[in-house]
Amino acid sequence: MPNAIVAENPSFNDLIAADADVTLLQGGFKFLEGPVWQDGRLIFSDIPADAMYAWSPEAGVKAYRSPSFRSNGNTLDLQGNLVSCEHGSRVVSVTVDDERKVLLDRFNGKLFNSPNDVVVRNDGSVWFTDPPYGLPADKRAELMEQEGKYVFCFDPNDGSLSKVASDFDMPNGLCFSPDEKRLYIADSGKPKHVRVFNVHGKTLEGGEVFARIEPGVPDGMRCDEHGNLWTTAGDGIHVYSPDGELLGKVLCPETPANTCFGGPNGTTLFMTAKTSLYAVETKVKGAPRPVK
Ligand code: MG
Repeated sequence: MPNAIVAENPSFNDLIAADADVTLLQGGFKFLEGPVWQDGRLIFSDIPADAMYAWSPEAGVKAYRSPSFRSNGNTLDLQGNLVSCEHGSRVVSVTVDDERKVLLDRFNGKLFNSPNDVVVRNDGSVWFTDPPYGLPADKRAELMEQEGKYVFCFDPNDGSLSKVASDFDMPNGLCFSPDEKRLYIADSGKPKHVRVFNVHGKTLEGGEVFARIEPGVPDGMRCDEHGNLWTTAGDGIHVYSPDGELLGKVLCPETPANTCFGGPNGTTLFMTAKTSLYAVETKVKGAPRPVK
């Protein structure tokens, strides 16, 4: 897709070339989400198809897991294991040596709504959002066991699971700044904005509005190595500087629900956009992944 790069600030072209092409890697899916780069391949979810796939430059798209328990967001833990939010099973799972295990299934003895997106911090803590999107819209009131739609932090060091935010309409994508002092969280419900929190251990402070998204809503997002935030929006990816200035947009033919950096050089931006997987080459890498 030519003319996909819209600079709102001239510095945007330091991040991505003005003539960068958004490339269709493969279409024909149902609803894609959860891209994460793992060991030379992109893992991603097709939620309604109850399947996960792996894409690599050499092999294209291959089956990865089916059923996937309608997995949505994916990330890696400090050891590089896949951590997945699952709508079907209403759990957060971890896959070690190809074996899927339930990592978390309840808070205060009650089932989660439908874990949506997840990030891991450099202390190994697992932060995830729990809106009810994975429950049938007409049965949410009946099926929701949690009193609200929370953001959670799980500390594997002491096994504690705590609620870190409870004032979202629909908490959705989330992302740490490269220094992990900030956590960005999308509210894809009525507010249609991204909020920014200061992270203190296992608690959050602040939560002011960082960016209002128009058109569409924010869902998945990632930071680049310089701390710019690349968030999904109705027309593609919107890129904000750390102080909240809109630098530019990457327009996508279909609305992306999530995005991540990866590829052989770490500079490819992948977009899981409804029925298709897209990619565009940038001039930046994603924020380094925390590792043990
Ligand atoms: Mg999401």
